Amino acid sequence: MKSADKGQEPSSTGATASISLQTPLKSLRGVGPVVAGGLERLGLSTVADLLNHYPHRWEDYSRLSTIAGLRPGPVTLRARVERLRLSRTARRRVPIVEAILSDDSGTTKAVWFGQMFIMNSLREGEEYYFAGEFAFRAANLALQNPTFELVVDQKSAGRIVPIYPENSLITSKLLSKLCIQVIETPDLLGQIAQVVPEEIIRLAQLLPKSSAIRELHAPTSMRQLELAQRSLGYEELFILITAGLVIRAQLAAEEAMPIPFQQRVIDDFLTTLPYKLTDAQRLAAWQIFEDLKQGHPMHRLLQGDVGSGKTVVALMAASLAAAAGAQTALLVPTEILARQHIASAARILEPLGIKPQLLVAGLTSAEKATAYQGIADGSVQVVIGTHSLLNDSLEFHRLALIIIDEQHRFGVAQRDTLLHKGTEFPHLLAMTATPIPRSLTHIIYGDMDVSVIDELPPGRVPTITKLFLEIERANAYAQIEQQIEQGRQVFVICPRIDSKEEVGEVGQDSGAKSVKSEYNRLQKTIFQHRRIALLHGRMSSADKEQVMADFAAHRTDILIATSVVEVGVDVPNATVMMIEDADRFGLAALHQLRGRVGRAGHQSYCFLFTRVDAPLIQNRLRALERTNDGFRLAQIDLETRGAGELFGTRQHGHGIDLRMASLADTRLIAAVQAAAKSWLAAHDLAEAPALAGQIDSLQQVTVLD
Ligand code: ADP
Ligand code: MG
Repeated sequence: MKSADKGQEPSSTGATASISLQTPLKSLRGVGPVVAGGLERLGLSTVADLLNHYPHRWEDYSRLSTIAGLRPGPVTLRARVERLRLSRTARRRVPIVEAILSDDSGTTKAVWFGQMFIMNSLREGEEYYFAGEFAFRAANLALQNPTFELVVDQKSAGRIVPIYPENSLITSKLLSKLCIQVIETPDLLGQIAQVVPEEIIRLAQLLPKSSAIRELHAPTSMRQLELAQRSLGYEELFILITAGLVIRAQLAAEEAMPIPFQQRVIDDFLTTLPYKLTDAQRLAAWQIFEDLKQGHPMHRLLQGDVGSGKTVVALMAASLAAAAGAQTALLVPTEILARQHIASAARILEPLGIKPQLLVAGLTSAEKATAYQGIADGSVQVVIGTHSLLNDSLEFHRLALIIIDEQHRFGVAQRDTLLHKGTEFPHLLAMTATPIPRSLTHIIYGDMDVSVIDELPPGRVPTITKLFLEIERANAYAQIEQQIEQGRQVFVICPRIDSKEEVGEVGQDSGAKSVKSEYNRLQKTIFQHRRIALLHGRMSSADKEQVMADFAAHRTDILIATSVVEVGVDVPNATVMMIEDADRFGLAALHQLRGRVGRAGHQSYCFLFTRVDAPLIQNRLRALERTNDGFRLAQIDLETRGAGELFGTRQHGHGIDLRMASLADTRLIAAVQAAAKSWLAAHDLAEAPALAGQIDSLQQVTVLD
């Protein structure tokens, strides 16, 4: 979503105001072809793009500390470089530049890591402005990696200086200069469309959009800057929350096939189950049945930790749909998962006379033709499949219920394709094991109702989790050997497939362990007497399936895999989940992986390995030792890694772009929600065209089109 939007037509007054929001940056003063190319590389081609490129931090030169007055935290000061010294860290030989700084009040130290060039950029005897974190390093307080500017340049004196994300060609200083040139153009900022309605701006005491943008790029004071950030963050949340409410209202106006609740169908269903439903499963099922009865589409998210038993709840809904003469499509992210689901669904549904049909890429063309036929003529009541379900030529007889497992793995466009396969608007049930802190569901799933299964079936033995350091590796292998000796099986997860390529997770460091190298190593050394297999996303689906089948049938003892096993894989005999370079994964992902074991009443173990020798990272991982609660871990992930990691656009597919709003600010979220609700109750969306436009573009990537 664009924050500085095109908005109204430029009000071309006077000769000076020749710049509009649409003006290409290459026509600005000081932008030649080379700089224009560099800006392009940052994704900046127009003036609007430039204003929309926010600084990522600010340095406050308006309030300088004296050295004697320094306190831990972010500081700016004016000081002379007395001495410069280069050394290296003992282990990894990283260059360290140290500078002794002085002013009239005393002396202190500044330290730069891995930035050898600092040696040539600072000169002994010269005076500079420094800005950075004053913090402990090896028991001494020092300025950590500060930025600096020669005092005679004076540009920063007394100002709050924005610092922009930059590349080798486009420095932060250049961006700042261009922004100021634009901002000082008369009448330009007035072209920025106001998205949040004026009355809310007033009530919530926020800055109008144009002033907020000005403050961001050229702050007049810290207080105004903070207000600007708050105002822009408010806008981001306001758009998302309003969009959710608007989509909800639209869905409520759509018609869908009512699927009546039939006690007999549910009774039959429950008698085929070898267990009793938990209370949480019952409640979720009841909420779903209530939705299905209505003549309007259900749009519900079923959230429940790994192993909480979401599948059976979904299948109950499918059996009601079948009894009503309608079809259900269960969409899953991987072929492995589809095959696993079809097996368990068949066990439950076949006694009820419902035969689930598998539809995946791996079917032969004859199998596929039969499946297509049955789906088109309605003899197939439940289809379980992967992306193959989205094929254009696949026709349904009467699709009334769509169930999406592991929702976040699907792009929203794919979801849309399915929604349009029905003649009527189908009901939608999305399932996810990724726990989302409750405060965020309005934002992440604002368009959906949410059911939560917050209870595990009885008799589960909690998995014991332990963080291992490299020196304790032999100990972990000994425990693994013991488990295999007792007839159990083991997962070993590595972040990468081979030593050259990166899979899934963040971080480009080539040092992460790979499936292939671990396979070779373990096969040749410590576990040469064991049956080891390997699994990753680049194998053919036939090979993957074979490997999974072998592991499920206990024809192998150790499965070395990437996080492809993360979603849904169910091998109850596996009791150890060993994760290499665990620091590469978010807590939520680790928790998912851990959910692969502890599924059958055997005491299970999750061994986390890290080679990162940083207390912060080790502490984050230790959260897994302390809790098995996915919601709690999601909250910690949110606080320590930020929302981007949790619900990055990449992962989530909702196009959520929060740059200023913190998802950890639950009070602000609640306030925005209340404001959005009451504004929509009293106004028509058409009264706020800029807001309507934003919601429109957001909707193109969310549920409806
Ligand atoms: P998830 O919510 O992770 O998708 P599943 O639906 O795969 O969980 O269920 C995990 C396991 O728990 C399955 O083997 C399922 O048969 C079993 N299960 C589900 N509900 C219950 C219950 N109420 N009591 C005992 N076992 C259950
Ligand atoms: Mg599941």
